[in-house]
Amino acid sequence: MTVRLGSRIGNMDIITPLILLFGAGYSNASELRMWLDEEPLAAQYPALPEETAPLCTPDQIAEPTQLPDLPQLYARWDPARSWGTAYTVEGIIAAAEQVRLDRPQAEPFIIGDLSWEHGGFLPGHRDHREGLDADISLYFGDGEQAAFQDVPPSKLDVRTTWTLIEALLDTGRVDYILLDPALIQTLERWLTSEGVLTAEEITAVFPPANTPRIWELDSIVRPAARHRNHLHVHFRCRRY
Ligand SMILES: [Zn+2]
Repeated sequence: MTVRLGSRIGNMDIITPLILLFGAGYSNASELRMWLDEEPLAAQYPALPEETAPLCTPDQIAEPTQLPDLPQLYARWDPARSWGTAYTVEGIIAAAEQVRLDRPQAEPFIIGDLSWEHGGFLPGHRDHREGLDADISLYFGDGEQAAFQDVPPSKLDVRTTWTLIEALLDTGRVDYILLDPALIQTLERWLTSEGVLTAEEITAVFPPANTPRIWELDSIVRPAARHRNHLHVHFRCRRY
């Protein structure tokens, strides 16, 4: 894996094991892509069954489910920290399958932390305690994974990043996604100039930070500092 970003490294503790773990993986990924190209692909992956979100269980995971090893779709940086609710895990897989269909040339994305098998405090995070949160590394250049390095707005692969965000929101299971405000602005500019979304649709997906009662909205992307190197995806649970 060659990371060509000129930006500073956000977290050496995370990057070093990532490079060790996945450095050898990409030759396999390109072989797999060739295989995928020969397969007839369905236009759209079948929609996820509509399911109610699991009950919220503070500091525990309802029905702990490990994100499976699916290297053609994504790479997990630590399987021990890859546990979520079944609802979360199915949502991630469905989104990854959609990205694979829509952007077959893009590298499989790298998933950082979800939660421990039984939930609870995960070092380095405030969230990630209930199997509802997942960190996904950003895309830069043309479908390349930044391996949790900061991505400056000018280097963001907006097309693939939008494909990933849209696939996550389309699962109908996402509460919110957190992303750096400057990266959100870059996405909004691209969505406007390409005519992908109308101004109203952009506001619905990316409500401004000062939107009243923003925490009551779901299926949205919210601006958050310290999110230049990943998307933080928060899946739903229900209170009762
Ligand atoms: Zn996170």
